[in-house]
Amino acid sequence: MATSAVKFSPPKLAQLKPGKLLIGGKWVDAKSGKRFDALNPATGQTLTTLAEGDKADVDLAVKAARAAFEGAWAKLLPRERQAMLWKVGDLILENADEIAEIESLDNGKPIRESRNVDIPMAAEVFRYYAGWVTKIHGETVPVNGPFFNYTLREPMGVVGQIIPWNFPLLMAAWKLAPALACGNTCVLKPAEQTSLSALRLGELILEAGLPEGVVNIITGFGPTAGAALSAHMDVDKIAFTGETSTGRLILEASAKSNLKRPSLELGGKSPNIVFADADMDTAVRGTFTGIFFNQGQVCCAGSRLFVEEKAHDVFMEKLVARAAKIKQGDPLDPGTTMGPQVSKEQMEKVLSYLELGRQEGAQPVLGGGPSKLAEETGGYFVEPTIFDRATNDMRLAREEIFGPVLTTITFRDIEDVVRQGNDTLYGLAAGVFTSDVRKAHRVAAALRAGTVWVNTWNVFDPASPFGGYKMSGFGRELGAHCLELYTQTKSVWVNLG
Ligand code: NAP
Ligand code: MG
Repeated sequence: MATSAVKFSPPKLAQLKPGKLLIGGKWVDAKSGKRFDALNPATGQTLTTLAEGDKADVDLAVKAARAAFEGAWAKLLPRERQAMLWKVGDLILENADEIAEIESLDNGKPIRESRNVDIPMAAEVFRYYAGWVTKIHGETVPVNGPFFNYTLREPMGVVGQIIPWNFPLLMAAWKLAPALACGNTCVLKPAEQTSLSALRLGELILEAGLPEGVVNIITGFGPTAGAALSAHMDVDKIAFTGETSTGRLILEASAKSNLKRPSLELGGKSPNIVFADADMDTAVRGTFTGIFFNQGQVCCAGSRLFVEEKAHDVFMEKLVARAAKIKQGDPLDPGTTMGPQVSKEQMEKVLSYLELGRQEGAQPVLGGGPSKLAEETGGYFVEPTIFDRATNDMRLAREEIFGPVLTTITFRDIEDVVRQGNDTLYGLAAGVFTSDVRKAHRVAAALRAGTVWVNTWNVFDPASPFGGYKMSGFGRELGAHCLELYTQTKSVWVNLG
């Protein structure tokens, strides 16, 4: 991801008070009174407890969001809403050290990443969409007859938003900022593993002056709180990011309730293609970032590496040497470059794939097992792993592992690698490393994926759309494209006759 250099200042004491639900501008306990633990993945210890919201709380949150949609939020002028969204961005940056610490404690990502990437980028997304508030408008249409016809672009209404744990604050920003810019009100359900930064964001949203009920936050579990939101009869749109299998449940819930408009950002198994004519150092850097950034817990991770056979030995030697320098450890240590997996469940899932890869006949040339750190700390650490000499039909190459595990396959020529690269159910991202500009464009056009990176990986900008082809979902987040998700068009006819 694009980063801007930020100087570290000593982190303030993280706010780890017991979490409540944000409903109608008030912090409240769940109706049931139930709570659950927020864990530190680097130690397995409890950080604090969170309110376990469910259907009853979702009902209240949707009521509050509906009242705000018809009331205070609609009454504000565009420039007032714009100023508030910009202010949220400001407040995120003013509190960046503290939020980064919360994020690293809760998710396990290295503080250098949360402080330099996640938090500044979340602020940027709010600022980018603040700019859109005053620029969303309809058109006049030259119709046949004595009529004046124009269109209005109106908000969807109450929007439900369900997000995963890999970029907790950033995913909340990707969801909330465009929805609010279009005039909607929101009920957000963060992931059960990583709710703390969303709650802090809720405080900042109130501080920025957004009226009560415009943003509501329900912490809790997917099958209860998440399911209630996606099945709710008074939610107009549901935006979801997470696993493809959960995405299906969201679609079903929409189909069985009020046909609320779904948009889905799902999983991936993205092909990263390295041609022999590529600048090898650039390709190593991109491949490394593509699979090991954020402990490999990235939807667009370049988890299937295709190396041209004749460059295989040179490239793999450099890549393994680079990956061997990963410094795994305490996420709050600025020197740490890889933290633990987000949860015990996730660690065990990754370990099971390491075992499977061996059984399938792929060769681990780096890592390949549990990390010693896991025993020492009680944290969910796994070894960063590179499998070599795999084939595209192995489960290792077909299933999303969502961890620091790279699967390497070789290829002969463009036709061969395009065929293998596209031979997947997913289509979120892809990448190509080559010094031949014709080859780069040819392959970028042939790959069926929502994002293609050429001689780079994981570059993002709030202005550039992101989303999936095939079973990686539909709808585009970020950029002007995202406004399509959160607005609907009304055609108005005026009789001039
Ligand atoms: P997940 O298990 O699908 O969970 C995502 C969210 O859905 C969580 O808030 C979860 O609640 C909730 N949920 C679970 N079951 C639900 C149900 N029946 N109804 C409604 N909501 C439900 O995904 P994850 O494990 O958190 O995240 C990893 C996945 O996200 C990967 O597949 C990754 O590729 C994908 N991802 C995609 C993108 C993208 O932009 N395409 C970005 C990031 C991640 P709980 O917290 O209680 O489980
Ligand atoms: Mg999950």
